[in-house]
Amino acid sequence: MKAELKEQVEARLDELLVLIWETLPDFPRPTIGYDHFNLFSYAAAAANAVDWDIQISPEMLEAYPEEMLAEGLPHELGHLVSNYKNKNKFEFELENILLNGHGPLWEEVMHDIFGIENPHDSFNSVVKENGHAPINP
Ligand SMILES: [Zn+2]
Repeated sequence: MKAELKEQVEARLDELLVLIWETLPDFPRPTIGYDHFNLFSYAAAAANAVDWDIQISPEMLEAYPEEMLAEGLPHELGHLVSNYKNKNKFEFELENILLNGHGPLWEEVMHDIFGIENPHDSFNSVVKENGHAPINP
């Protein structure tokens, strides 16, 4: 994969972190990886709140660079923000079980922090046929 694409992902992460830090100044920067994607290669990307890491499919990033930067990265980051804001809350656990983490808490983060009004519609343009790995709450 082109090094330039990885640089673009890190630059996009910088932009999104600035938005997050407006309300959550202590939110830790997650790591971004591309190496472990063979574990769930059917998905476009996945967030892991235990390792505080986002894994991105190199194939999907090369095939859909604009969509993955505009929508895919905030989608996954939204899971970590939702986790960070709602850690240990029963509602968060319930949401993860029932809605795979794409419920009201995640939607609120996507709207209020990233300004993405229709997170399901937008990300579906990228992952509809490729799926999305479950997150570790
Ligand atoms: Zn998701």
